Amino acid sequence: MERFWIIRDTEHGKVIVPKKPILCPICGEVMLLHDFACYKHTSGFKHADIHVKCPYCSFWATFGVPISEEEFEELTKSPLHKQILKWELTNLVDEEVRGDLEARLKKWGYW
Ligand SMILES: [Zn+2]
Repeated sequence: MERFWIIRDTEHGKVIVPKKPILCPICGEVMLLHDFACYKHTSGFKHADIHVKCPYCSFWATFGVPISEEEFEELTKSPLHKQILKWELTNLVDEEVRGDLEARLKKWGYW
């Protein structure tokens, strides 16, 4: 089975994103990518911790995604690594939902 997460190269740097929008299990809103951080264990195991947040009810979740050495290098060198994602977070959804989300997030002072 192909992995649900893919690395996308944006104009701001590389970011790991889901292939499909993640819906909030509480209220059904499209969840936003908040930040990601990669870790390497002493055993050599590498993973990305990816935080997503619901812009409506504030539900917060962490995904722990195993990554390769190459992906670890790509993601830790990205200017977006361990940063709170702003513009980039909207890349998760299609154009129609994106326009709506951007308008609402701007109104709430998200960026
Ligand atoms: Zn929610």
